[in-house]
Amino acid sequence: MKRIFITEAINKVGEEVLLKGWVNSRRNMGKIAFIDLRDKTGLVQVVLVPAELDEVSREAMPKIRPEFVLAVTGKVQARKPGNENKDLASGTIEILASKLEIINEAETPPFEIDNEERQASEELRLKYRYLDLRHERMARNIKLRSDVIRYVIDYLVDHNFTYIQTPMLSKSTPEGARDYLVPSRVHQGKFFALPQSPQQYKQLLMVAGVERYFQIAPCFRDEDARADRSPGEFYQIDMEMSFMEQDEVLDLTEKMFTSMVKKLFPEKHLTFEPWPRLKHADVVKKYGTDKPDLRKDKENLNELAFAWVVDFPLFNKQTAEDFFHGSGKSQWAPSHHMFTRPKEEDLPLLETDPGKVHSYQHDLVLNGLEVGGGSLRIHDPKVQEKVWDLIGFTIEQKQQFAHLIEAFKYGVPPHGGIAPGLDRLVSILAGEKNIREVIAFPLMGDVRDPLMDAPSEVTKEQLEELGLVYRSK
Ligand code: ASP
Repeated sequence: MKRIFITEAINKVGEEVLLKGWVNSRRNMGKIAFIDLRDKTGLVQVVLVPAELDEVSREAMPKIRPEFVLAVTGKVQARKPGNENKDLASGTIEILASKLEIINEAETPPFEIDNEERQASEELRLKYRYLDLRHERMARNIKLRSDVIRYVIDYLVDHNFTYIQTPMLSKSTPEGARDYLVPSRVHQGKFFALPQSPQQYKQLLMVAGVERYFQIAPCFRDEDARADRSPGEFYQIDMEMSFMEQDEVLDLTEKMFTSMVKKLFPEKHLTFEPWPRLKHADVVKKYGTDKPDLRKDKENLNELAFAWVVDFPLFNKQTAEDFFHGSGKSQWAPSHHMFTRPKEEDLPLLETDPGKVHSYQHDLVLNGLEVGGGSLRIHDPKVQEKVWDLIGFTIEQKQQFAHLIEAFKYGVPPHGGIAPGLDRLVSILAGEKNIREVIAFPLMGDVRDPLMDAPSEVTKEQLEELGLVYRSK
């Protein structure tokens, strides 16, 4: 017999089925036992009556404990009226087992899997993430993430976007954050960098005539942990478009997420339709922050208050943390990033009063959190050069972006884009405060993976091969 999923058994009352999965729980009632069997589609109650089982199964019956992997053959029967379980999708049926096979035994897990309180520490949960993910809530979050990714891919492909994967082994450039470096074995003394974002590639793809690019893009930034971002690596829905005005970029993004919420999250409602487009200065004045929570009922997890913030200043005053933007000798740091286009009418101010220049930056705010940012880009090398000068770039630093300026000599279309953060967006949609609850294998806050024990030491031979010497502090 072919194994079917638990949800497929619901409509097979009277039929014999073969189910496979894990023992979620076991209850003994005299000679009879009840098992909740779990597979990726949910739980079902299995009734074990010794008289209904064959010899081998009868012997297996007392051995069965939570998290054992089982094959159960049995008849689907409707539960007696009054015995239905409304909390279970399969609550109208149960399986009267005729045959049991223990496929694999399981030790007692280091924490209770079926416990909603998740009392185990995060360290323990991440060390045994494969058990933690068995919990219904976690399984639901991971599935929901998959559904969101699928929706975005379908939507953007339907709107003429091309999914393009850009390199992971790339070049270190002073783009904004600290790079993760990868030593080159072949070219000793040289390093690749993991991309902070595909920003430069996606702009080059616009020069290539792709016009509409997207990617569910992994991004790597060697930053200290922040509450609203997973440390080390995170995913963006990275998009770039040519020949579009800022409003068109916002329209497209807004329509995609609005239709996604309606299709995938019918229980949620949007505070605004269309979403407000607020000027940065007004927002800061009115709310004291540039990511205001505009929900009418801030306690309501099902309310989604999306809003756009636009008209940002091109520059902020540089802080010590902005060191990676420039030489540290300038007072200006980009508010978004160095490729953001200043408003045409403010171009003269670049010479006279840079702090007053406004840009085509757009931030996407949801329930008081920034879930994405983007901008129209500079495509005039002279303007780019000026921005670099203002953020204090040295000639050497500018040289690191020579490929982009070179590309712009060969017919660059006006372009712009956005990169909503996938992890943050999914965590809000899933009603999770902690972003790590929607990532299958996240790093801990201290940038460490207790499961794989990463980062880890490497052998002397590995270092030698790379021409590296490790000097302990
Ligand atoms: N690359 C930008 C970022 O990571 C997003 C964008 O401008 O599209 O913030």
